[in-house]
Amino acid sequence: MATQNDSKVVVIGAGIAGVSAALKLVYNGIPDVTLLEAQDYIGGRVKAAMIDGSPADLGAQFIHGRTGNPVYEIAAKLKRIPFATSVNPVEESLTNPGDIFYTSSGHKIERDEVKELMELLSEVLENEVTDGYGKSVQEALESVYSKFLSENEGKINPAMEEVYEAAYRWFSKYVQVDNATDDLSQLSLDSEYVVLPGDRYTIVDNGMSGLVATLAEQLPPGVVQLNTPVSRIDWTCEETDNPRQSSGSKPIRVTCENGNTIEADHVIVTISIGCLKATHKTLFQPLLPAPVQEAVEHTGFGLIGKIFLQFEEPFWEDHRESTQDNFFESYEFLWLDSHLPTIQSDRSKRKTKSGHPWWYGIHSMETMYMHPRVLEIFLNREQVELSDDLPDEEVMAVCTDVMRAFIKDIPIPDPVAIHRTNWFDNPYTRGTYSYASTQFRNQDKKHFGRPVPSSKDPQVLFAGEAYSKEFQSTFHGALISGDNTADFLLSQYGLKPHRKLIDLVSP
Ligand SMILES: Cc1cc2nc3c(=O)[nH]c(=O)nc-3n(C[C@H](O)[C@H](O)[C@H](O)COP(=O)(O)OP(=O)(O)OC[C@H]3O[C@@H](n4cnc5c(N)ncnc54)[C@H](O)[C@@H]3O)c2cc1C
Repeated sequence: MATQNDSKVVVIGAGIAGVSAALKLVYNGIPDVTLLEAQDYIGGRVKAAMIDGSPADLGAQFIHGRTGNPVYEIAAKLKRIPFATSVNPVEESLTNPGDIFYTSSGHKIERDEVKELMELLSEVLENEVTDGYGKSVQEALESVYSKFLSENEGKINPAMEEVYEAAYRWFSKYVQVDNATDDLSQLSLDSEYVVLPGDRYTIVDNGMSGLVATLAEQLPPGVVQLNTPVSRIDWTCEETDNPRQSSGSKPIRVTCENGNTIEADHVIVTISIGCLKATHKTLFQPLLPAPVQEAVEHTGFGLIGKIFLQFEEPFWEDHRESTQDNFFESYEFLWLDSHLPTIQSDRSKRKTKSGHPWWYGIHSMETMYMHPRVLEIFLNREQVELSDDLPDEEVMAVCTDVMRAFIKDIPIPDPVAIHRTNWFDNPYTRGTYSYASTQFRNQDKKHFGRPVPSSKDPQVLFAGEAYSKEFQSTFHGALISGDNTADFLLSQYGLKPHRKLIDLVSP
């Protein structure tokens, strides 16, 4: 191996994993680091649209958990946490205290009426009950739901039966969006995800994109090369103890689409699992070892969509009691089989696999911090795929009509604008985030994200949200993964990291 001073590291992808890896290396003794980014901005799946002069996060939006979360610590040091208190501590149900439930028959439902069922279903995800349930989240949820029904047999009035059915479907939709998969039979219960204590939905002044920007500013000039997609990584298959040291040659050649090549000792690949699945057979020369390829193929990578509906002025009330409340309101929609609304503005008439219109099951509309006249809607994969290419006007009208079908006690004006995400069509994301798939096998765990050809000769290393066992799918998982991968590389050179990411920023 080269020495630390003449070692060359190329990091591919300037999302938060790539930025944190590059920072850690540069500030801890590896001077020659290049960060290659395909797109024209830093942040990857953290990106904002400006709405009313404030950034609205199209990708990562919330810090999930506070205690032990380095992203929270960095944001707090930067004084970007607007709300000191946490009204949605992890001990509480997954749903938000600001939820107002409506049925498709236009009735308001008190949260308490569905709370017990929601809490039972939430426990499945909190891993408090796993024994005796099937491997997939779907099996576990079905099992809990039928137990709930049988334990309450004879006690549920007929009107509530249908509400429970709808609440169950609501919860499934919530889990689909949270995990970016619309097939819960593919979502494994066997996840090592750790829920950090503290507010589950902490928001950040200036958005998550502001945080990435502040971190990236600490990189020395010249490290980042934007608009530079990497098309090929030639690595040396043979594991070696170090014949290259004497020859001075570097084992890896990174080729960019613009024809430039860079010789390197190590490459840290941080592209999304969606991109890796799509490109690994052409990206790596030779191919990655078969078990590593299989582990990638077996990892789940999903898709969700966000819609921001902008109104002339808010028609909802701000129930925040003080500016210290981290509180957002949300309207939750329970779709009753007996009352499926007719939506005139649905001109496309596109149907889901189960034969419902694409907008069936839009389950929530939420108010947004810093955007007092915007409501945010989350779509699952199928809804995104079916509505993706519809004109903005049609999607805007359909969403408004859905809202009007549920919320009858407040007059709902027409929105004035719509903003939509498009993570699937972007060749440099190809979806939103990874999830624990039922296809991921025990043997995959050993190979997923391991250095190639080996830990002793780590030419190609991997980092990104998907490789964080405890925090898979999250922004903090990606940051920690980049940081850990850099630490591993530093340790190969006998270097102990003395500067942490948090040391690099100041308010
Ligand atoms: C809609 C949405 C909502 C989310 N909400 C939250 C949330 O509220 N909280 C949370 O914690 N997380 C959330 N996440 C997840 C979070 O955004 C990601 O986990 C995290 O940002 C991933 O960072 P990364 O560095 O691993 O990958 P990325 O951000 O994808 O970075 C990889 C980079 O590689 C680049 N790249 C790809 N191919 C190439 C190539 N061939 N050559 C060079 N560069 C390439 C890409 O352009 C990209 O910049 C959300 C994500 C999405 C999309």
